Amino acid sequence: IKIKITNIDIPVAFASAFEGEIIRRKDMQVEFDGSRVDCAELVQTCDASEVEDHKITVVGPEVDDMELGSKNSIAYVVKVAGKNMQPDFEPVIERKFHNYINCIEGVYHTGQRDMQRIRISIDAFNAGFKIKHIGEVLYASVKNEFDAVVDKCEVVIYTDPAECTRVRHEVAIPIFDKRDERLDTLTDESVDVYYSCILCQAFSPSHVCVVTPERLGLCGAVSWLDAKATHQLDPNGPCQVITKERPIDENLGSYEDVDEAVQKFSQGALEHVTLYSIMQDPMTSCGCFECICGIEPFSNGVVIANREYAGMTPLGMTFPEMASMTGGGVQTPGFMGHGKHFISSKKFMKAEGGIERIVWMPKELKEFVAERLNKTAQELYGIENFTDMIGDETVAEDPETLVAFLTEKGHPALGMDPMM
Ligand code: SF4
Ligand code: ZN
Repeated sequence: IKIKITNIDIPVAFASAFEGEIIRRKDMQVEFDGSRVDCAELVQTCDASEVEDHKITVVGPEVDDMELGSKNSIAYVVKVAGKNMQPDFEPVIERKFHNYINCIEGVYHTGQRDMQRIRISIDAFNAGFKIKHIGEVLYASVKNEFDAVVDKCEVVIYTDPAECTRVRHEVAIPIFDKRDERLDTLTDESVDVYYSCILCQAFSPSHVCVVTPERLGLCGAVSWLDAKATHQLDPNGPCQVITKERPIDENLGSYEDVDEAVQKFSQGALEHVTLYSIMQDPMTSCGCFECICGIEPFSNGVVIANREYAGMTPLGMTFPEMASMTGGGVQTPGFMGHGKHFISSKKFMKAEGGIERIVWMPKELKEFVAERLNKTAQELYGIENFTDMIGDETVAEDPETLVAFLTEKGHPALGMDPMM
């Protein structure tokens, strides 16, 4: 990861040394949390005439106006123009915001798209750090790193809650959806190469994502198209080509080429990784998975929980408890971090029988994936409205109640082989 230390006009330090810094609740002045209120981060390609270079605008309250310890909305739109700029590069630039904002002393960032979370420390606030300084950092970093494609850059930061709601729902989400739809026509079989991503090694030194058309990065923010664009923009950067010429087992999704790549990019920490199994050499997880799936032995199935879900799962674990077993760049068979869009993929734990294994999801997540998941279940198994067979927190938070529900619905997992 290349982060040059630049002269950015902010009252605290900016350096990659601060990237791993964590800000605890008691040390925080304010936070912004996309899993609880409307937030978004977005890069938009504009015509040169629509962008005023280095203009930073804050629409809404500044940090001074926010209560100590409060949770707030934030949405920033980075408008860029350049003759070599392509809309394909937008998500790649967006994904770097995580690194840029983390390099600020006393500021912490996690997540992406409309699910980012930012904390500003009391120390940074006392030093005079303000919302507009996030704009200064984004401006300088984007101009610095993407100078090959970005000629002009302007940042608009919304903290007004109504504006954040508008930007998230009317501007950002439709753009995110459109990007996801572009991928729908691609399959793992239809492409010649996959890509690695090691953007998260700042936090998880041995973690490598293998990104394929049907399996996006576990953060949900790096699709195969994004990884391809990242590689185009920076051929020596975090995303490298992985060939797929020497398959070992197509059902597991194992390849000699993939094994060699993960060995190299994990500095020898990983030897074998499969693309389609959660039991045999599953892909590792860093910390920014959108979801975690974990084996549920009573039903022969898996439970999936998403980051926003605050309640209990039938595994007797909450999302943070599942996360503590899953993260850190290690392989934990039976548990795996993944992106939301992977849930409706035909490659989702294909080696163990695929999406038929899904027995429980939080209601909100189930609704989010329903249309795509039901379409996949229809195509693969001829099951109509598959999500009606899947439990959620309104049905069961313990295995006994869940199994009773699944039995009543005739859920296919009950008749499958045990996973272990
Ligand atoms: Fe890249 Fe994976 Fe990190 Fe996403 S989670 S940024 S795909 S390494
Ligand atoms: Zn990560």
